[in-house]
Amino acid sequence: MEITEFAYLGARARERQGSNRRRCGPAWGRDESHIFLGTAIAITIGVHAQAAQSSDPVEVSGYRHSVEGRSLLESASTAANAVLSASSSFRLQQSWEVEGNGASTPSAIKLFLIAVTPQPFVIQVRFRSCRCIFVQAEAFRTKVSRYAQDSEMTSKIDASHLLAFMLLHEVGHQQEGHPGYMDRESPDLNFDDNEVKARERAADEFAAKALIAAGKDRTRIDAFLSAMEIELALSKVSFNLAGIRVIGSFGGSTLCAKDLFADRGVSHPNFELRILTVNDIITDTPTSHQLVVDFERCRQNSVK
Ligand SMILES: [Zn+2]
Repeated sequence: MEITEFAYLGARARERQGSNRRRCGPAWGRDESHIFLGTAIAITIGVHAQAAQSSDPVEVSGYRHSVEGRSLLESASTAANAVLSASSSFRLQQSWEVEGNGASTPSAIKLFLIAVTPQPFVIQVRFRSCRCIFVQAEAFRTKVSRYAQDSEMTSKIDASHLLAFMLLHEVGHQQEGHPGYMDRESPDLNFDDNEVKARERAADEFAAKALIAAGKDRTRIDAFLSAMEIELALSKVSFNLAGIRVIGSFGGSTLCAKDLFADRGVSHPNFELRILTVNDIITDTPTSHQLVVDFERCRQNSVK
């Protein structure tokens, strides 16, 4: 689901109101309710005043910092920066390693780890207000566990390589001048195309081309090795997703079932198709082309 920064802050405000309402529910007596309500209002005013004064983008957004996932994000951003060194001036910065709240240079994009929120998100991008990327490590691990863990249908993938690709994708949004987004799927199944999905494809293409450039870079061994590791992870994602789809839903795969081949939500193309397309850009082989063609054909034949 695409959420602009403004719209998302509105949703956050409603979320906070909802959570306050729940805490002021029937379990509290009338007087206690008033005392609690008064205290809650005072605290809320205080929080808002603090948020208004704060230039910390995490606090301004109504979130809390987290230290959980630092080693994961450090590995991912190191790999992504090595890849970027071959073709882009953008660099990712860990917020806990630089002074101040803003990015230190015009080409820096700052990474923040966010504590768990009531409605978890994996990545949220805030390029308009602070040129920064918010990551929730726990939500990320939960999301990728479906296709990245060692199981009967899937082989294990290093999560930091997957996160590195996601970060390269987000840098692609910055490169293309896209507004802020929150990457989140929705249960709405569709085959519609729109400008927002086109932006997602453009960000994927940026990441794929960054990997190609790094794979050809013989001047920096870390760029080359990081590109190879991320590319290997992406090919394993494709393999794992196909395994889950075919073994887990054999009939659905052969019948081109909508829930397997459609897009989920209005902002993001089908995830398996995205990975197939990225792998096709990177490897550019008859087999990679055919995998995309076959998937697209199933989308055409699926019951609309
Ligand atoms: Zn995106």
